[in-house]
Amino acid sequence: MKTSFRKVVMLLVCVFINLSLLFLINYIGKTWTVLRISDTLMLPTASFQGTIQSVCILSCFLMVFIDYKKGRILADITMFLVMLQNIATMLLTHTLNGIPGLFSSIISVFTVGVLARFYRKQAENSITDLITGLQNRRKFIEDAEAYVANRTPFYLANIAIKNFAKIADAYGLKAGDYILKIVSEKLSSSIDSSAILYRIVGSNFIIIFPGQKNPSELVEKIVSELNVEVVIPKNLSSSGNSECSCYPLLACGIAKFSGEDESYNKIFNNSDLALSLARRSSSQSVFVYDEKMQQEQDNRLEAEKLIIESLKNDYFYLVYQPQFEIATKKLRGFETLIRCKKPDGTIVSPAFYIPVAEKSNLILDIDDYVLMRAMKEFKPVLDQLKEKITISINVSAKNISKIDFAQKIEKIIDATQFPPDCLEIEITEYSLSESMQNTISNINQLRKRGVQIALDDFGTGYTSIAQVMNLPINLLKIDKSLIDDIENNQRNRDLVDSVIYMGHIMNCEVISEGVESENQLALLKEHKCDFVQGFVWGKPLPYDTAVEMCLSSDK
Ligand code: C2E
Ligand code: MG
Ligand code: MG
Repeated sequence: MKTSFRKVVMLLVCVFINLSLLFLINYIGKTWTVLRISDTLMLPTASFQGTIQSVCILSCFLMVFIDYKKGRILADITMFLVMLQNIATMLLTHTLNGIPGLFSSIISVFTVGVLARFYRKQAENSITDLITGLQNRRKFIEDAEAYVANRTPFYLANIAIKNFAKIADAYGLKAGDYILKIVSEKLSSSIDSSAILYRIVGSNFIIIFPGQKNPSELVEKIVSELNVEVVIPKNLSSSGNSECSCYPLLACGIAKFSGEDESYNKIFNNSDLALSLARRSSSQSVFVYDEKMQQEQDNRLEAEKLIIESLKNDYFYLVYQPQFEIATKKLRGFETLIRCKKPDGTIVSPAFYIPVAEKSNLILDIDDYVLMRAMKEFKPVLDQLKEKITISINVSAKNISKIDFAQKIEKIIDATQFPPDCLEIEITEYSLSESMQNTISNINQLRKRGVQIALDDFGTGYTSIAQVMNLPINLLKIDKSLIDDIENNQRNRDLVDSVIYMGHIMNCEVISEGVESENQLALLKEHKCDFVQGFVWGKPLPYDTAVEMCLSSDK
């Protein structure tokens, strides 16, 4: 049974009891002056009527308790009838018998009023956010459910202060509350009266924009206007006497309810997904949900699950792609590439999980796994070789820019006894855009230990020549995208030629990756490229085959 229906039934029961009691009081008053209970016990009807009237009053309180709005009206009507009944008794009997009843019903009307006001306040508090005075999460759910039930279209803007935790950590809880108040005031003054603003939890605000008009432009304007300095008063900051200030950074995800069959929960989740993208983005603060986002999110969750399971259950393994000297076809070494074999036998490409891992800290676990496994696997092989070969290992930008990365590599070198001059760390151009200082100091420390450094995917457009010039790199790896068109595209040929030339000026060797045809190979040889890696001379190989290859080439 729905709550409101149950309330109405309970109220009707109370009204019925009250009317019956009033009828009884009236009947007793008219019929007897005294009530004979036994030969010795007789009660004056007035006292009996008073008792029944008290039950009536109690029932009125009960009605207010059940529903403070409707209950109060019914209670007032009942009390009014009681008063009339008391007055009528006095007029009919020409006595003052009804005075106490009249008096008690007036006091009851007043008490019912106080009680109703108390319940109203309590109800208001339950839907109000105490810090900002805005409507709260409970009211938001009620309203959103009502919109969905009535199939009224609306847009939902889910707004968060991205740096709220940092502000509260730095300046304390009171300063955090102050920021919430300021932001809520600015938000409510930026929207018109048809939109409804709520604070739902922490630094999360919701605005419901009824109607079909996409509010993203307005929200973008609000968000950018809010990115201004907020001065926190001295007495609210935990940093003591000094006045401090901060810039609240807002992010927003917008989702639409078009009036079709969806739950409010789904719309909220959609806005939350768009918000999570807005939180991560450094360039865009407002995202509007679309179905592609959901697909990406599903892929991301699936890839993350696969990575965690693979690390736990050992589904990962390594393959090794050979690299050759172009002039002599002599083996230079191998690039280590990760693979994942699921229990059903399917092999999943790193293109599926590496980009996802790079967005979370999972890439650090993958890198650690590959570093340890590749060095362990190849140490005994290197011991058998007369001539050195290089084992190249891909390392993410996140990892190389960590302050203790070089130390970590040195620890693995010590633990596996791997010869450092046979190790090459492949970093990408992205690494140079992360924490540049840490990256350079890690590279320098590793170079001192004899480790080689290769710059992978070179030519995809993120590094300036000036940046590369200053790095102690051994090897430039020309990206496959530059090689692909080299036969037909003079511009790409010139570009590859300049990269090779530039690499040599920097005292680097140059390798081309993704070389698939003999023609490409011939052109690269002509342009004096040093090494080649590609399907033309060798696909990625399982460990045993790679070992056989290097043992036979060493003879
Ligand atoms: P990458 O480091 O640039 O690796 C080269 C990719 O090109 C590899 O793809 C390799 O199999 C592929 N490749 C090499 N020669 C040819 C060719 O001639 N034709 C074609 N079509 N492809 C060729 P893979 O193994 O799928 O790896 C893709 C990317 O995933 C790698 O690009 C690297 O960025 C990442 N990755 C792979 N293994 C690891 C790893 O162990 N750690 C990290 N951090 N990233 C990895
Ligand atoms: Mg690579
Ligand atoms: Mg590459």
